[in-house]
Amino acid sequence: MGTGRSNAVGQHVTGPYSLKGGPVSLQHNELLWCRIDCRFTGAETFENIFISASEVSMNEKAINDILEVVIKNVINEMEVCKQGKAGNYNTSETIPVELSARHVHLSEADAIALFGNPLTPVRELSQPGQFLAKERVRLIGPKGVMDNVAVLGPSRNASQVEISKTDARILGVEAPVRQSGDTNGTPGIILASQAGIVGLEEGVIVASRHIHMSPEDARRFGVIDNDRVHVRLDGERPVTLEDVLVRVHDSFKLAMHIDPDEGNSAGWNKSVSGRISNR
Ligand SMILES: [Zn+2]
Repeated sequence: MGTGRSNAVGQHVTGPYSLKGGPVSLQHNELLWCRIDCRFTGAETFENIFISASEVSMNEKAINDILEVVIKNVINEMEVCKQGKAGNYNTSETIPVELSARHVHLSEADAIALFGNPLTPVRELSQPGQFLAKERVRLIGPKGVMDNVAVLGPSRNASQVEISKTDARILGVEAPVRQSGDTNGTPGIILASQAGIVGLEEGVIVASRHIHMSPEDARRFGVIDNDRVHVRLDGERPVTLEDVLVRVHDSFKLAMHIDPDEGNSAGWNKSVSGRISNR
């Protein structure tokens, strides 16, 4: 193995290896990062080698031999990762693009406080198990009111209001762009129905644009859960959206969800589709 590194497992390691010409140094946490972030094949094995090397007493040569293999493999994987991030996405397959209009998710308690009953499904949505409820709510913000806002089921642990930046301006709330469910520190709003009223202390967000994928879809597109990609929409006014969150789950059906501001910017209609872009 090369020179210029410590031979202690898990400590700072500098090798003669390089990524695109520059010297690299790796730490154990970086190996871990690579495993988590880049889905590198055989990572479990490398991780196990690390653990066993640090737990049992080994002679220096044996440790060096293991380190050499580990570091070579990690560097390999990092290069694969870099290529993947930079240009190995599937850019030819199209993704259906659906517009997600303003809507509310309610906790069971809030649904009952507003309507006196749990939510009543009227129509299945594209993601399996999700439905549009018969019930509608009024949003009351400091500057404006919106009526007849859709409620989506099933009920969640916490109520959440998903609006566009335009809606936020009209209502007078400073809603941040957040991933669904991440509502810590977001503004609140008042929800009202014919029968009840509920004050939310937090939960108003502009949902991050995102793509739902099954694990099989993700493999085809060359992405993993929580990746952020660029997607070009082929609308009347083609536009490339950056920072599109990839969500992978067994229950998901391939679809990209954008809000009306994003849809209108591209001249969206139901036939518009997206392609992941390498830039
Ligand atoms: Zn969605």
